[in-house]
Amino acid sequence: MRKHLLPVVMFAIFETVAVTLWLAMDNLFYLFNFSYIGFSIAFGIFLYLKKYKHARRVTQLLVGLYMLVYLGLICNENMQIEGFWYYLFTGVFEAATIHYAVAKIFGPLVFGRGWCGYACWTAMVLDFLPYKEPHQPRKKLGGIRYITFAASLIFVASLFLAHVDNIAGIMFWAFIIGNLLYYAIGIGLAFLFRDNRAFCKYICPITIFLKPMSYFSLIRITCDKNKCISCGKCRQVCPMNVDVTDNSRKRANGTECILCMECVKSCPKNAL
Ligand code: SF4
Ligand code: SF4
Ligand code: SF4
Repeated sequence: MRKHLLPVVMFAIFETVAVTLWLAMDNLFYLFNFSYIGFSIAFGIFLYLKKYKHARRVTQLLVGLYMLVYLGLICNENMQIEGFWYYLFTGVFEAATIHYAVAKIFGPLVFGRGWCGYACWTAMVLDFLPYKEPHQPRKKLGGIRYITFAASLIFVASLFLAHVDNIAGIMFWAFIIGNLLYYAIGIGLAFLFRDNRAFCKYICPITIFLKPMSYFSLIRITCDKNKCISCGKCRQVCPMNVDVTDNSRKRANGTECILCMECVKSCPKNAL
């Protein structure tokens, strides 16, 4: 009974954020936005508890499509990292800024890279590809993320420094073109490296925020060493190559964990 309270608690947390921001900002959007996201996450947890095997994917599609289609394409909010820089430079506290603060900068202190497992619209598509378990050893290409991060910042800063007209319009098209590029590169890399999450591991600029913050994550998967028989199944199914049997925060690829629960589901001894 107690575990079935979890979706209710999760929904209550998001509802608290929703009502607080609605009243503080005097904007009904925040009530709708965080209520919807809270419901999607709570529904996914409920399905997981009911042992529905696609529970995570349901939440990922509910949240990812909402962000991409409704916030991005219909409301014209650039929800990519360029949008974050744009709103930061303009000093406007809009959805993209709040989204980054909650999901990608401060939130990971609590829920790690839950964003990457349950909400990201790029991974939402990549997770449909055939290489759910990496088929090759991890490459030493993580440095590329610093280049993409710097490129996004330089791109937006140059628009402001050059006093370009209609930056808002450019940001809308940057959102569309940026997403198409992400999908093209992400799908190409997934097939090249036989790894659905290759884009996340090597290219994604947002990991510059996500990785250090999730190092301190309150929620993390740990291993009960008394139950573990070192069968290696958890490492084999992990899409992010996390050494989940090591309980230290410095475990290999520890800041890559997307809380997908594949290791937990596959452990024959319920050690995770
Ligand atoms: S690493 Fe980037 S692309 Fe991958 S799921 Fe996280 S935010 Fe999305
Ligand atoms: S399989 Fe386990 S360790 Fe790997 S990303 Fe998913 S939850 Fe994290
Ligand atoms: S799957 Fe379970 S038993 Fe096997 S190594 Fe991982 S934690 Fe240990």
